[in-house]
Amino acid sequence: MKNVLQSLYLLQLLDTELDELRELRGDLPDTVNKMDEERTMLIGRIEECEQALKKGAVERQQMEKQSLELIAKIDRYKGQQLEVTNNKEYDALTREMETAENTIMSNESEIERFIEQAEELKTSKTDLEGRRDELEKELEVKREELEEILATTREEEKSLETRREAVLKEIKERDLVLYTRIREAKGKAVAPIRRESCSGCYNIVPPQLILEVKKNDRLFTCEHCGRILVSEEIAQETSI
Ligand SMILES: [Zn+2]
Repeated sequence: MKNVLQSLYLLQLLDTELDELRELRGDLPDTVNKMDEERTMLIGRIEECEQALKKGAVERQQMEKQSLELIAKIDRYKGQQLEVTNNKEYDALTREMETAENTIMSNESEIERFIEQAEELKTSKTDLEGRRDELEKELEVKREELEEILATTREEEKSLETRREAVLKEIKERDLVLYTRIREAKGKAVAPIRRESCSGCYNIVPPQLILEVKKNDRLFTCEHCGRILVSEEIAQETSI
């Protein structure tokens, strides 16, 4: 049982070290991720602008082509009108020309709309590209910062994690569940008794309980904070 208590305390020490290493990184990994997401979003919107610009240009070209064809048609109709022999045919050609002229006019206003839309899209695109460029610069700086911190902590973190894995093998599933539950709630799950008090919450531990804990033959938790109690002796014997 003493081994279990030592393992739990060692696990606690390793986890605390790991917490401290991760704290060094602070919000940086999160910040970098969020900036990266924003960058992806901006790139997506720039692409949307480009697609819309392309689509608008194609539609505009089609309309311009159609109008040119209609102008040619009108010219033909004019020629035909000179050759017709009756009013009915003449009027029919006039109507055809009117229809063509109307279409040309509506195309013109559509083309104007496309031109305006293209201007708006170009402005949005330039704006988005500016934001993307700025973000990329900031992102690069943050990435470098993070990389520096990672480089100095990586080795240490790796070795702590390897040792943590080894310690975990010494701990029963049931005890680990308890440990994890307290750790999640309190940060540290194991508290050595120091000066007759729980070092987790500083409340006095009853003398009888201190004696029981010293026997190292089962798990006791602090009646105030619920942390697993270990004797001072265990704490002294165990170090990273
Ligand atoms: Zn306590």
